[in-house]
Amino acid sequence: MKEIILIKMGELVLKGLNRRQFEDQLIRNIKKSIKSLGQFTVRFAQSTIYVVPEDDFIDLDDVCERIGRVFGIATYSRAIMCDEKSLESVLKTAPVYLADQLGSIKTFKVESRRSDKKFPFKSPEISRETGAAILRAFPHLRVDVHNPDLTVMVEIRDFGAYVRGAAIRGAGGIPVGTGGNAAILISGGLDSPVAAWMIAKRGVRLTAIHFASPPYTSERAEQKVVKLLRKVALYSGDMTMYTVPFTEIQETIRKKCPEDYFTLIMRRLMMKIAERIARDNKCSALITGESLGQVASQTIKALACTDEAASMPVFRPLIGMDKQEIVDISYKIDTYETSIEPYEDCCTVFTPKHPRTNPVLERVKDAEEKGDFDEMIETALNNLKVTYINNK
Ligand code: ATP
Ligand code: MG
Repeated sequence: MKEIILIKMGELVLKGLNRRQFEDQLIRNIKKSIKSLGQFTVRFAQSTIYVVPEDDFIDLDDVCERIGRVFGIATYSRAIMCDEKSLESVLKTAPVYLADQLGSIKTFKVESRRSDKKFPFKSPEISRETGAAILRAFPHLRVDVHNPDLTVMVEIRDFGAYVRGAAIRGAGGIPVGTGGNAAILISGGLDSPVAAWMIAKRGVRLTAIHFASPPYTSERAEQKVVKLLRKVALYSGDMTMYTVPFTEIQETIRKKCPEDYFTLIMRRLMMKIAERIARDNKCSALITGESLGQVASQTIKALACTDEAASMPVFRPLIGMDKQEIVDISYKIDTYETSIEPYEDCCTVFTPKHPRTNPVLERVKDAEEKGDFDEMIETALNNLKVTYINNK
């Protein structure tokens, strides 16, 4: 008997003509996510993806953990391939394979699917006989067709008979690589890693941009960002991170611009630089972790001033979320503990005492001109540090 994983696709079944492309990308992403665990055969048939381990040392728990993070998967389940494609083999296999699950519940039902029409028993017969075999082995159980604790699935395919128990919910979303590219402006905070994850979930491949202002920000602050991106990359796949040297620009803002506009000017310059890096990396949108009203630079008017600095669309997936909702996701994607490590961010090094919450764009632009930033922007862009983020 050989245990395998069966995967059901998510939303992409809705995508009409693009469907094939989505399926191919999902299969590529699945293969890539489990590659380092051993040899597998991954095959696709009748809207199910079969992941068959080919090495004895492979631990299916590890495989499930990786598969649980691949976007585009609605559900997945472990299943057993019966020794033979016969009803007898199914009846022998089901109670043994599912013993742990069946022992701890009260009610069950059996559903069968027979895509191999040459199989000599029809689905209702397969279900009935399998149910009877389970009841013989677990007399405490009852069949409940409406609201069972467990639905046992029997699938008779061209290439074998399978038995499986409960399906586990997958990561949802759309396969990364089918939705274009976008650049995430990432700090070491709680919000931006969550924003990155949310946009990757919609099929978008990420490039990361981080602004650093040494010596005001430390090497360890930057390493924290790398650590966060590695966590995000478990879902989004590998990405390139660009670190922008931002010290000269920030010092100039402090020296030459009015204090109440410090933050806004800094954010506009971040957008301008990020947009250039994004274009060079074939990205067509920027992503930030901003959320409406969270801080002075995240009021409607402040965001409008920030937006005006870039011509690309800016995605803010957290815009309508409360902090607690963001924190909940950060736990789920395991970025929380890293995000709360106490390192400084360039955003917090020269913060004004009274930032504008109601800025007027023309005034911000006038104030910005005082800094004469064009050359500094070019210098920053010519001195980017490149870090490749992967989990190998
Ligand atoms: P976060 O928790 O992501 O740091 P925040 O609520 O602290 O967000 P701000 O510090 O105002 O908010 O930053 C708003 C957004 O600007 C961040 O979500 C991020 O997208 C971007 N950002 C902030 N600092 C940096 C940085 N050093 N490098 C790149 N992007 C940054
Ligand atoms: Mg921050």
